[in-house]
Amino acid sequence: LNARMAPFTSTIFAEMSALAVRTGAINLGQGFPDTDGPQLILDAASEAIHGGANQYPPGPGIPALRVAVAEHQKRFYSLDLDPDTEILITAGATEAIAATILALCEPGDEVVTFEPYYDSYAASIALAGAERRTVRLRPRPAGATWERDDAADGRAVGFQFDPDELAAAFSDRTRLVLLNTPHNPTGKVFSRDELELIARLATEHDAVVVTDEVYEHLTFDGRPHIPMATLPGMADRTVTISSAGKTFSVTGWKIGWLHGPAELVAAARAVKQFLTYVSGGPLQPAVAAALGLDDAFYTTLAADLQRKRDLLSAGLRAAGFDVFATSGTYFVITDAAPLGFDDGIELCQRLPELIGVAAVPVSVFCDDKDSTRSLVRFAYCKRDEVLREAVDRLSGLS
Ligand code: PMP
Ligand code: GLN
Repeated sequence: LNARMAPFTSTIFAEMSALAVRTGAINLGQGFPDTDGPQLILDAASEAIHGGANQYPPGPGIPALRVAVAEHQKRFYSLDLDPDTEILITAGATEAIAATILALCEPGDEVVTFEPYYDSYAASIALAGAERRTVRLRPRPAGATWERDDAADGRAVGFQFDPDELAAAFSDRTRLVLLNTPHNPTGKVFSRDELELIARLATEHDAVVVTDEVYEHLTFDGRPHIPMATLPGMADRTVTISSAGKTFSVTGWKIGWLHGPAELVAAARAVKQFLTYVSGGPLQPAVAAALGLDDAFYTTLAADLQRKRDLLSAGLRAAGFDVFATSGTYFVITDAAPLGFDDGIELCQRLPELIGVAAVPVSVFCDDKDSTRSLVRFAYCKRDEVLREAVDRLSGLS
C-alpha cells in the first residue's frame, strides 16, 4: 500500500459493524436504517430490472434522474440547474466527494474542513496528494457566550466552531472548503450566519466550496437546511453533493449526485468516468421517481427521526452519558467520561460484549484525538423497539 493510503487501511464503520455481527449486538455504530425505503422506490427499481434497464446507463446518469434532481433542487431550494451540463450522477455521495477532490486539487493544495470529519474526506484528500486543514467543532456547554443553539436537553448543547480558527485555516494554498451540513457525526446544522462566514472566506481566497448535503432532509425542531449554493454569489463556486441513501433509506444502493457550475461538473465527470464509469442502471429511474414524492413523505421522514433522536438521547442521558444536542442526521454524540470511561475507542471495543450495543468512537474522525477521546457516537436511525431495547441495555452501564 502506498504511503498516501497507508493510514486508511480499514474503516471504523466496517470494523464496528463486524464486531456487532460477531457479538449479536444492536448496531448503533454504522449509520443505516433498519427499515426499507418507500414502497414506490422499491417497486420502481423492481420494474426497471424486469423492464430491461440492466445495461450501462449514460455516463452523466440517465436524463430522467438528472431532470428529477434539478426539479428537486428547484422545489426545495429555488435553485435553477441545467440537467445536461450542471448535474452528474455518481456511485453514492462517496464517489462524488472523491471525484470532485481528485478533479480540482493539485498536489500540495489545501482543503479546509471541519473536524470531526466524515472518514472518506481525509482519504480522498490524501489520494489527491492535497492537505487537510481542519477546524474544530467543539462541544459547547449551555450558557457559553457565543452559543447560538438552544439546548435540546438542558444539559449539554451542540457543536460550534471558532470563527478566528476558521479564518486562520485559510491560506494562499487553499483550493477547497469541504463542508458537511447537516453534519456527521455531530448532528450540527450550520446556521445562515456560519455559512455566510464560510462563504466570505472562500470567496476572499478564491476557493471552491464542496458541500456534502446527504442529510438535507433529516433536520429537526423546524431547523431549516440551508444549501451553500443558495447564498448570494455562491452557486458560481459551489459543488453540491447529495445522495438517495439517507433520503430514501436505501444506503446500499449508492446512487448519488453532484451539481455546480458546468466547468466544475465537467471536471468531476472526467475523474468519475475512470473510477466507476457508471453504476446502478435500474436504480437510477427508481430514485428519479422517488425524488418526486409529495411533501408529506419528506416531513414524515424527519418527524419520525426526530422522535427516534429524542428516544435515544433521553435513554443515553438516563444511562449517565453527557448528551450533545443534535439537530439533524442519524447521529448523536455523547461523552462517556461521566460514566468513568475516558477512552471512547476502548469503550466501543468493549461495549458489544459488555451490554450488547455497538457504537463508534468520535476520535477516529479527528486529528485532535485528545479533546475528543471520551466522545462516542450513537445512531438512532433504527426501529423504535430496537432503540428501546438498546436503551434498556445501556442502562446497565451505570
Ligand atoms: N457523506 C456523509 C456525511 C455520510 O455520512 C455518508 C454516509 N452515508 C456519505 C457521505 C456517503 O454517502 P453514500 O452512501 O451516498 O456514498
Ligand atoms: N455514513 C455512515 C456512517 O457514518 C457509514 C457509511 C460507511 O460505512 N462508509 O455511519
